[in-house]
Amino acid sequence: MKLLAFLLMTASVLAEAPITLVIHGGAGISREELSAEKEAAARAALEESLRAGFKVLQSGGSSLDAVGMAIVVLEDSPSFNAGRGAVLTSAGAVEMDASIMDGATLKAGAVAGVQGVRNPIRLARAVMDHTPHVMLIGNGAEDFARERKLPFEPPDYFIIPERVRQLERAKEKAAKKQASIESLPPSFKAGTVGAVALDKAGHLAAGTSTGGMTNKRAGRVGDSPVIGAGTYADDDLVAVSCTGHGEYFIRCAVAHDVAARMRYQNATVGDATRAIIHERLKKMGGDGGLIALDAKGNVATPFNTPGMFHGIIRADGTIRIAIFEE
Ligand code: ASP
Repeated sequence: MKLLAFLLMTASVLAEAPITLVIHGGAGISREELSAEKEAAARAALEESLRAGFKVLQSGGSSLDAVGMAIVVLEDSPSFNAGRGAVLTSAGAVEMDASIMDGATLKAGAVAGVQGVRNPIRLARAVMDHTPHVMLIGNGAEDFARERKLPFEPPDYFIIPERVRQLERAKEKAAKKQASIESLPPSFKAGTVGAVALDKAGHLAAGTSTGGMTNKRAGRVGDSPVIGAGTYADDDLVAVSCTGHGEYFIRCAVAHDVAARMRYQNATVGDATRAIIHERLKKMGGDGGLIALDAKGNVATPFNTPGMFHGIIRADGTIRIAIFEE
């Protein structure tokens, strides 16, 4: 009897998927801009995020919950361009975008251009769970957040001095060179956060949250809340969260392109993500990167910028955090 119970237990453990969580904190960083202090703060927040999401997975929770939990930690950290510390529009406001997708059901939720909502990723999840819609924007999304009793914060919670300086610098540069947003260095454009996870049941999920790009026009929406561009998850294939110059990621439907290469070309997650980030986007001048995770636990973290904050925690609890190497 005991032997049977033991065998059954072993079989169920063996049948479990290798729980994995991968996160990113944006692809806009270069070595020159990263002080030791900034790096330490970012690494600490990434580790906290990995541990929080992993706890969910370890206790048998869903990949969706793990993704949400990991992203909330990064939204609450001022080190990244999402939630607290989000970048500013040309009018000096914070307008945030976020999305989440369930690889098991292909359900998704997204919000764009929201102000004051402490954790846009939680609002995206609420759109998925409690409305028949995929995306809500602006006032309508904020009203829905109030209805769901999600916490709001005043502007000075979100706006940190570094982002004010970045906006000033971006404006000066734009005025001097009559430059468009495209000619700004990547650091002006990045810091978005995202997560992809595989749970014990073998389900994948992906989520992304951002303040967008510094000095963006009021009302501009990037790829992060666009399902198939910034975020995608399908249990049969892969979960993807992107970061980078959103206009390019929308035009190339990057997150879905990874899934499509895997579905139609039988590409591995490594080959599919390399092709889109290092070939297609690179040729077009689209700066950025992504994190991707397939249902077997294979991970890819390509970026065509100098660096991308990212981290991985695997089933055995080992953590790897990296910035300048994939
Ligand atoms: N992709 C985001 C956007 O364009 C920005 C980023 O990832 O840094 O809004």
